[in-house]
Amino acid sequence: MIEIKDLHKSYSTGNNSLHVLKGINFSVKEGELVSIMGSSGSGKSTLLNILGMLDEADRGSYTLDGVPIKNLNEKLAAQYRNKFLGFIFQSFNLINYKNAIDNVALPLYYQKVGRKERDERAMHYLEKVGLADWADHLPNQLSGGQKQRVAIARALASDPKVLLADEPTGALDTKTSYEVMDLIQGINEEGRTILIVTHEPDIAQMTKRIVNLKDGLIIDDTMVDQVKALSHV
Ligand code: ATP
Ligand code: MG
Repeated sequence: MIEIKDLHKSYSTGNNSLHVLKGINFSVKEGELVSIMGSSGSGKSTLLNILGMLDEADRGSYTLDGVPIKNLNEKLAAQYRNKFLGFIFQSFNLINYKNAIDNVALPLYYQKVGRKERDERAMHYLEKVGLADWADHLPNQLSGGQKQRVAIARALASDPKVLLADEPTGALDTKTSYEVMDLIQGINEEGRTILIVTHEPDIAQMTKRIVNLKDGLIIDDTMVDQVKALSHV
């Protein structure tokens, strides 16, 4: 599903250049649930943003579902991103003046899906995350966990093959974090490929594979012991 080779990324700030990713190689198969760990500033978000086609690498290759990303022009890249990728963020990124169902339906609006189908699909995904009764509520009438569920429903609305989540439990308490991870595990069980950036070891243990970044390189890539992972729930 995802294949990256010798990926490099530097940021320039003034006269200085910061080499953040120094040759990342890894691949993710369809249906995997992977966490990316590493200390603050190790380049986790940078890597996820490149995987999400929100940013470009300076060097190296990235192939998504068999297609080399570099070969796509801007318009195709945007279509490809909408079709293949869903995003979940630490701070939910919901639109405050839109209710839950309209937040979920928003990506479908941009994809020019008609009103009726938009609402049906949005409701379907709200049901899936357990929030059918909250469709009319505004984000500020929802708890943190509920907001993240709405954000997950929104990420699923366009039926992407891959979900990318940057610290999805970073703003939630422990119990709510586990509930959100339960939901994410369920979505993965249905066959969706999911990558999660986290710096919480307990959260990483609820995925199937842990990739560790340090000084711009992958220093460890380990399958999680599933028996141990279950005992965490
Ligand atoms: P955290 O756990 O704190 O979220 P991270 O592992 O996600 O950290 P990144 O956000 O990928 O780290 O940042 C890696 C490094 O690149 C940091 O030193 C950061 O300051 C720097 N950086 C990130 N984005 C930019 C940017 N747009 N311009 C300049 N430097 C940046
Ligand atoms: Mg980050």
